[in-house]
Amino acid sequence: MSTADTQWRTRLRVVLVGTTHPGNIGAAARAMKTMGLERLYLVSPERFPCAEATARAAGADDLLAAAVCCDSLAEAVSDCAWAVGTSARSRHIAWPTLDPEGCARQAIAGTADGEVALVFGRERSGLSNAELDLCQAVVHIPTNPAFSSLNLASAVQILAYELSRAGAREPVAPTVEEPAASVEEMERFYVHLEEALRSIGYLDPRAPKLLMRRMRRLYGRARPLESEVSILRGILSATLAQSSR
Ligand code: SAH
Repeated sequence: MSTADTQWRTRLRVVLVGTTHPGNIGAAARAMKTMGLERLYLVSPERFPCAEATARAAGADDLLAAAVCCDSLAEAVSDCAWAVGTSARSRHIAWPTLDPEGCARQAIAGTADGEVALVFGRERSGLSNAELDLCQAVVHIPTNPAFSSLNLASAVQILAYELSRAGAREPVAPTVEEPAASVEEMERFYVHLEEALRSIGYLDPRAPKLLMRRMRRLYGRARPLESEVSILRGILSATLAQSSR
């Protein structure tokens, strides 16, 4: 691996949300290590640490030892400039959907702006809509439409492989002149936006979710810089001040 090829890797994390079977955590760590990925985040795993995870890691237990455990996905991705969720279902119309190659390209490019997260869901139920709301895009691995759910670690393996291929093709030297707003900053912006839209009577209080999801999609695509979010927040504060007069 060249220096440029290793730089993006230091900014990329794999996040496993609510994993039920510790064996899958170990197998995911093994899948990551084979592709040179190292940073594993675990959100409320059912059982961890666990001998079964270590056994299935088959030598990738250094990743397990260094894994960062969090209580929520918001905590695991708060400092990220870009997060992509994974889905076994192909039609999540509310989120821009990428294929594995496109996801890898965007993730690698995203490391130029800051930290990037690849988020995997629970074995049985995947990721909730509220969790996908924290992601700026969704990636679906094309499968047999009648049998679309891969084993968690298999999904990690495929996306990690695509990342390592894309990283070798188009290595990115991170050159952050001005950072993109983090997930945490964008969450604060959405709270502020919702408050302002309510106060001017634009948001239908009976169905706030639809509009807010569309707003997330719009701003997620734009990926504003920190300074741009400050301007937007300033506009919202001025709007709120006017509407309360
Ligand atoms: N019934 C769940 C299946 C979850 S499979 C659902 O419909 O979402 C467990 C996890 O493996 C998923 O949350 C996702 O992270 C990953 N996964 C499985 N199949 C996938 C696919 N075809 N594309 C992308 N990710 C997939």
